[in-house]
Amino acid sequence: MELLAVAKTQPAAAVRALAACGQSAFAENYVQEAAGKIGALADLGLTWHLIGHLQSNKAAQAAELFDWVQSVDRPKLVRALATGRAATRPPLNVLVQVNVDGETGKSGCAPAEVAALADAVAAEPRLRLRGLMAIPEPHPDPGHRRAAFRAMRALFDELARRHPGIDTLSMGMSDDFELAIAEGATMVRVGTALFGARPAKPRAD
Ligand SMILES: *Cc1c(COP(=O)(O)O)cnc(C)c1O
Repeated sequence: MELLAVAKTQPAAAVRALAACGQSAFAENYVQEAAGKIGALADLGLTWHLIGHLQSNKAAQAAELFDWVQSVDRPKLVRALATGRAATRPPLNVLVQVNVDGETGKSGCAPAEVAALADAVAAEPRLRLRGLMAIPEPHPDPGHRRAAFRAMRALFDELARRHPGIDTLSMGMSDDFELAIAEGATMVRVGTALFGARPAKPRAD
């Protein structure tokens, strides 16, 4: 089980303090905000994950800054990230984001699109397919959320038959990580439960 510390809106000093406790994997939602923090904390050798929606025109910058991009949900991003990842770096780790509840207006590909998108990632030498990510609807009924996590685990197991190298199912946040772990998450993304309430509205970019 990997714990990813979600640092959006948190100052670099807060990340540094958590890193001093031994946490080494951090996540950001916005490329612009991450660029400053990643630069300021370069001495720590941390691993950085992008978990927010990625615009195509920011993909090249994301491929340069991050070690992982968890929000790949369309073919255009696959090409842009692969082109943006320098040949001198290790391949960029990629998760395909799935809109598991079919919520309208939400990021993530449809479950039926996962296989084709994963194939496209796996075909790019500059990318490394690691698995799936989802942000299930924060439904008040835990049974509803459990069903979404369970559906993700089934998708992951199905994809693993096609791509045996995958090892990461990223799901679960501060409010529901126990449930996600019970349903087979291998990575949880926790912000407020680690850092406390977020200090400010994230910048839009
Ligand atoms: C903000 C965020 C999290 C962390 O949320 P918390 O409720 O603060 O733990 C996890 N995943 C994604 C995609 C997020 O945007």
